[in-house]
Amino acid sequence: MASNQLIISELFYSIQGESSFAGLPCVFIRLAGCNLRCSYCDARYTYEEEGKPYPVSDLLTFADQYPSAQVEITGGEPLLQDNIYPLMDGLLSKGRCVLLETNGSIDLSRVPEEIIKIIDIKCPDSGMADHFDHKNLDLLTANDEIKFVLSSKRDYDWAREMLLKTIPDMLVKKGRILFSPVQSALAPQLLAQWILDDQLQVRLQLQLHKIIWPDKQRGV
Ligand code: SF4
Repeated sequence: MASNQLIISELFYSIQGESSFAGLPCVFIRLAGCNLRCSYCDARYTYEEEGKPYPVSDLLTFADQYPSAQVEITGGEPLLQDNIYPLMDGLLSKGRCVLLETNGSIDLSRVPEEIIKIIDIKCPDSGMADHFDHKNLDLLTANDEIKFVLSSKRDYDWAREMLLKTIPDMLVKKGRILFSPVQSALAPQLLAQWILDDQLQVRLQLQLHKIIWPDKQRGV
């Protein structure tokens, strides 16, 4: 791969469907490749298909078409490709608001502080719960977010335990903890009731893009 390129799975402009920024227009830069294999993965194409190489400058030009939108860098796992750092620097130098969605298994220490990090901490039913790098929790700022994708009561109890014992309090107080049900496995109504019963200060998150475009698997 050329020194200034990234392997991209898809590039698109849509409505942000997740995080506390849900509902806002957003440019998505989805990188190919992932080091995990979650049981419920809805982005298998990012590692089952070959991505397409793009120079970092072309990705910046794509984002320039939507100057007021946020930019989300996602995957797959975007931190697997080293040229992600020049892309982050390029977007920040243009004054963009940048979100990074990562599975938390890779060291975040090279990610600039201005990037809003959204760590997807894997729960037991994903089959990938052992891969989280706990040192990453020390690198978060109050602007970052943590997401738990839940398939079952077992996942909920595990995430609740982690929330009460390990997750930085500043994120809880700012409403930056997201509990998101796997659409095919856990009814939102059930999750809502558990959250209310336990009085957890977490944000119940439904994937907005799947509600708006239920028939589209990509590009939203
Ligand atoms: S980390 Fe994300 S892209 Fe990778 S397997 Fe899990 S859900 Fe899929």
